[in-house]
Amino acid sequence: MARDTNPQCKRCRRMGAKLFLKGDRCNTSKCAMVKRNYAPGAHGQKAAGGKGGRMTGYGMQLREKQKAKATYGILERQMRRYYDTAIRTKGDTSDILFKILESRFDNVVFRAGFAVNRQLARQLVNHNHFAVNGKRVNIPSYAIQMNDKITIDKTSAQKVPFKDLSEKLKTSREVTDWLSVDAKDLVIAKIGEPSMQKAAPNYDIRQIIEFYSR
Ligand code: SF4
Repeated sequence: MARDTNPQCKRCRRMGAKLFLKGDRCNTSKCAMVKRNYAPGAHGQKAAGGKGGRMTGYGMQLREKQKAKATYGILERQMRRYYDTAIRTKGDTSDILFKILESRFDNVVFRAGFAVNRQLARQLVNHNHFAVNGKRVNIPSYAIQMNDKITIDKTSAQKVPFKDLSEKLKTSREVTDWLSVDAKDLVIAKIGEPSMQKAAPNYDIRQIIEFYSR
């Protein structure tokens, strides 16, 4: 599947926001947004100094969409498809779009703490390590539904990415409240729906809706 291959820290610097694409490093002083908080390239510093003029409404909407795409590592066609699905579904379009993005298989694996970032989570899914409700799934965009159970293949469980995972999960950060994680047997279950209010994403989803509804 196609994906954005630009260096991760450059993507953050271009967006002017931390997108947390690298995992633990993002929370340290080594983060490029701490060391070089300006756009990459020869004129990046100049633009940061002068703030590059005032951004138009369209510019802000475009930027929020780019931030979301970079956060989840998805391309334009997929984002557009998610928007089209959200707009056709009954309910608050912003909430629905957020739920669609968060329910991606690779994002669920990341949110459960099985990978330090979404890029690694995508790789783990691609490499056939997981089953959903007992059936092997290797599609990162696969939509995880309510009560779905994600398990690790028996042989994969002995391999490096998962060998010490049980121990790590016991001491790692808190898991989001819409997932339950069995650290001993390495099972993830979707027990609720992602809430935009609780998650406070680093992009403004309403601006994204406005961008596409122009
Ligand atoms: Fe790099 Fe993470 Fe900092 Fe972004 S938040 S600049 S990916 S270290």
